[in-house]
Amino acid sequence: MDNTHTKQNNAHPISNPKPGAKQGKVIIFSAPSGSGKTTIVQHLLKNYDQFGFSVSACTREKRAFEVDGKDYHFLTVDEFEKKKAADEFVEWEKVYEGKYYGTLKSEVQGLRNTGKHVLFDVDVQGGINLKQYYQQDALSIFVEVPSEEELAKRLRSRKTETEESLKQRLAKVKEEMRFKDQFDKVVTNHVLDKTLKEVEKIIKDFIG
Ligand code: 5GP
Repeated sequence: MDNTHTKQNNAHPISNPKPGAKQGKVIIFSAPSGSGKTTIVQHLLKNYDQFGFSVSACTREKRAFEVDGKDYHFLTVDEFEKKKAADEFVEWEKVYEGKYYGTLKSEVQGLRNTGKHVLFDVDVQGGINLKQYYQQDALSIFVEVPSEEELAKRLRSRKTETEESLKQRLAKVKEEMRFKDQFDKVVTNHVLDKTLKEVEKIIKDFIG
């Protein structure tokens, strides 16, 4: 959380918008992992075709159900470093020890140029950095967990974590909660169906 690597002075489109297409907006979901933000993003992608997903690059191991290029672009640390050096990221973070995650400029601009609104599923610092970068083109939403106990329960039931990585994730949550006031909207995910409706309304008001 201590390192901020957003580069704010190089917002050059990688390609031009399709003739007649309006640039899509940027909708950022940030939250401690386990809050349900990924479920919310997946729901929006499945049900509304005006959204596209910014597939991040990351260096963690692929989970069994994940697809390279769809969930993440899975890279080695070396490959990630090369992209960093080539200035290919809008923002990147060391989210966990040795695990890098970053938003690729090419990914975002390609989608926005087709007129799609781009959805992001990023950590809290990444969300703050993306909002700073895209400013009024962006809506940032913090998805809050009802309680720490509930979060631990959700992460355990997901069975994707070892006890060690669970510990790391829970420690990060406390710190991340401190930043929620820096987001445009805060949504508490008690009951998923209600949360989805609330989020749809917030987004509708933003994109018009
Ligand atoms: P997971 O390993 O559970 O897929 O993701 C761990 C955390 O990294 C989540 O909070 C996720 O939202 C965040 N994350 C995913 N992609 C990016 C990214 O491109 N940038 C940043 N800053 N965080 C990301």
